[in-house]
Amino acid sequence: MGAIISKERDDSYVREKLEKICSQSAYSTDVYVNGVLIGSHPEPKKLVEDLREERRNGKIDYDVSIAYEERNNEVQVYSGAGRILRPLIVVKNLNKKGDGLIEDVKNKGLKFEVLVKKGIVEYVDAAEEEEAYIAITRDKITTEHTHAEITPSILTSIAEGYIPFANYNSAPRVEMASAMAKQAVGIPTTSFPSRLDSLMHVMDYPQRPVVRTDVSEIFHFDKMPAGQNFVVALLSYEGYNMEDAIVINQSSLERGLGRSTFYRTYTAEEVHYHGAQQDRFEIPKEDVEGHLPADAYKNLSNDGIILPETEFGSEDVLVGKTAPPRFLEEISMFGRIAERRRDASVTANEMESGWIESVVLTETDEGNTMIKIKTRSPRIPEIGDKLASRYGQKGVIGMTVRQEDMPFTNEGIVPDLIMNPHAIPSRTTVGHLIEMLGGTAGCLDGRFIDGTAFENEKESDLRKVLENFGFKNNGKQILYDGRTGEKIEAEIFIGVIYYQRLHHMVANKIHTRAKGPVQMLTRQPTEGRAKHGGLRFGEMERDCLIGHGASAVLKDRLLDESDKVKIPLCSKCGVMAVHDYERNKFTCPVCGDSQVY
Ligand SMILES: [Zn+2]
Repeated sequence: MGAIISKERDDSYVREKLEKICSQSAYSTDVYVNGVLIGSHPEPKKLVEDLREERRNGKIDYDVSIAYEERNNEVQVYSGAGRILRPLIVVKNLNKKGDGLIEDVKNKGLKFEVLVKKGIVEYVDAAEEEEAYIAITRDKITTEHTHAEITPSILTSIAEGYIPFANYNSAPRVEMASAMAKQAVGIPTTSFPSRLDSLMHVMDYPQRPVVRTDVSEIFHFDKMPAGQNFVVALLSYEGYNMEDAIVINQSSLERGLGRSTFYRTYTAEEVHYHGAQQDRFEIPKEDVEGHLPADAYKNLSNDGIILPETEFGSEDVLVGKTAPPRFLEEISMFGRIAERRRDASVTANEMESGWIESVVLTETDEGNTMIKIKTRSPRIPEIGDKLASRYGQKGVIGMTVRQEDMPFTNEGIVPDLIMNPHAIPSRTTVGHLIEMLGGTAGCLDGRFIDGTAFENEKESDLRKVLENFGFKNNGKQILYDGRTGEKIEAEIFIGVIYYQRLHHMVANKIHTRAKGPVQMLTRQPTEGRAKHGGLRFGEMERDCLIGHGASAVLKDRLLDESDKVKIPLCSKCGVMAVHDYERNKFTCPVCGDSQVY
């Protein structure tokens, strides 16, 4: 965070200065400016320090990098654009005046740029950072340190900064968590009601996390959150939460937990073609080519367009549209078939249902009438939907259990979610456990907990809060089985933690195919859900069937149910025969024989 990208700078001042002081001796350090050898200098460390001093005084631009690479014994000066730089406090200039200025920026609204101008803060790029010795906080500075962090959490990115207790986790998990945050369903934009995005998920009841960070507040995550605070128990439940599956409380879902709305926008355009031909928005008449079952058009009003707040189902027509025939001239030349318009209606996607949110009529740049239809479908979490905490601990719902069958505590608290304890040890996401302590402490104490990386509230303090409210300080409680009422033998770790619903939902992925469209070239089924495609039966799946000796299944998958084709052959000469579909007759193009295999 706080990083900037360098701009293209004029290097003539540095170059001329270095040309003056550098010699051509072969026994000292080579000096380069933007990769061009200027000369050599006997005291590289002093040279670099002098140049930096000039930069801190403003004689050299603040985003010029001056580095001494000890390994290659080279001094490199870069002034080009595109290097990424981050701000650090210069320890040497942390005297009374420097400290005073930092305080003024903090409290009196003095601009941050002043610190850069006065040389108290400098921007450092990757080459220069290599030889810097950076103290993580100002009170940890020793005589060896050259720089200090402005604040420790500045060394993470924004996406990582919103993870509480990030410094307690392994780096790959933190990275995974920040990648998952981008998939979380929340409030993507405050203008979502009036926008026409092709896809959008909006969470119905988002909550501020009980455990927050300074960074999340800076980018207003508290005002546009993407998740909810769940009561989570670490427990196995009848094997339905094996291998990262999670068991979720059905009654919580019915109360609105994790609920979101999915918006999709469909587009239809009245295209004008050459020769005064054009598409038409209308309810297609029955003689139109490719007419769908009459039932599909039931929602359309007289102009062929669906009305707002109409309920629609899978593959219902949203906009009735007819297009002119493709080969108008050829057909009229033969004069055999009368001009037939084609059905080009826009239909809702397979297995998708919901309501029409809005209908917008507008015009394209070419002057064609265009219709945008925004649909809305409620999405209640179901088996197969994906949830994740802020520690890269993702999982899919394996079972939903009604509240009365879930375990409960002495006080009658029932978890919203049961996570498998095996997800913790090998992944070392200690932050996950501390957040559960912190979340509980925050709920009991009625306040938000600070989880900012490196500067978070102490674990021992959180434990004290639990103790003050009469709980065990390790977050464990006695739980009872909801079905039998029997006490569960082990003490169970239970707490409040922020969970996100990720936008991978079963409802958008569910797909079946018995028969359907095939590719023209290969006669194999098309690929992909949107095209009614088949599921790929790949090499490895083939190997499996061979391994099992299931040759009949193999033939069934790879031939009968894929690109099987029958070709008529002449019984006399063996040449491919011609099939006249209209008369249903086979003839050989070579010998005219009609005996065909
Ligand atoms: Zn023949």
